[in-house]
Amino acid sequence: MPEETAYRKIIHIDMDAFFASVEQRDQPALKGRPVVVGGDSKRSVVAAASYEARKYGVFSAMPMALARQKCPDLVIVPHRFSIYKSVSQQIRSIFHQYTDLVEPLSLDEAYLDVTHNKKNIPSATLIARDIKQRVWEDTNLTCSAGISTNKFIAKVASGLNKPDGLTIIKPSKIEAFLDELPIEKFFGVGKVTAQKMQNLGIFYGSDLKKSAMQELIHHFGKSGKYYYEVCRGIDHREVSPDRIRKSISVERTFEENIYDQQRATQVLSDLCNELGHLLRKVIRREEHYI
Ligand SMILES: [Mg+2]
Repeated sequence: MPEETAYRKIIHIDMDAFFASVEQRDQPALKGRPVVVGGDSKRSVVAAASYEARKYGVFSAMPMALARQKCPDLVIVPHRFSIYKSVSQQIRSIFHQYTDLVEPLSLDEAYLDVTHNKKNIPSATLIARDIKQRVWEDTNLTCSAGISTNKFIAKVASGLNKPDGLTIIKPSKIEAFLDELPIEKFFGVGKVTAQKMQNLGIFYGSDLKKSAMQELIHHFGKSGKYYYEVCRGIDHREVSPDRIRKSISVERTFEENIYDQQRATQVLSDLCNELGHLLRKVIRREEHYI
């Protein structure tokens, strides 16, 4: 544990199946049905999947063609970003009633530091409950909250009891919680890294803790230090309301792998164009683009 006399109170709020839930809210006929938001073309990918769709193994970033195979009754709804953005503004204004230390990660999730808050509520759990209630009243949507002493644990916690979850990891429980946490649930450990760790015999936080920092750096580069620290509950990153965007990316998911070099070059060139276009757009409307 970090050597701090007083713990910080960090909340991570994450809307549940955000885009899909907004569509189900606005089109009652979609309620209870396996809905995904995304394009309908061959190359489209799922931008969001309702919980009903997830039961069929349909998840975001999956190629739409595959999603349809998994769920023949899938309802594909085009996205309405302007609506999602306005809902996002609604929830952020709720957050700001409690603290100005709000760091959005995307349209539908944010970290809040409520150690000192505008309402002088000493319990972060009470604040999270309040926020969930307000979000429901104002938007008719549910969200999940994770509460702990730092961003890493709050983020992992919010994902544990979705949807409509509220998970608190108290300081005294952090060590046991992280020891028992499967490494694929560690934020920042993707599929590839998880596989690599498992090959090294690392399955849970407790296994990760047994690895020396040098060893982790050797296998995972600079992320090694991060893994070394987070499995010990160490994460000093501040909730920073004016986080500066450090990267931007475009991507394409293919139904089948590409082996033809000419085709690969063409795809790469298209992606570069798209990236350039996006960059110019971001520069033009920096403050609005999150
Ligand atoms: Mg979400």
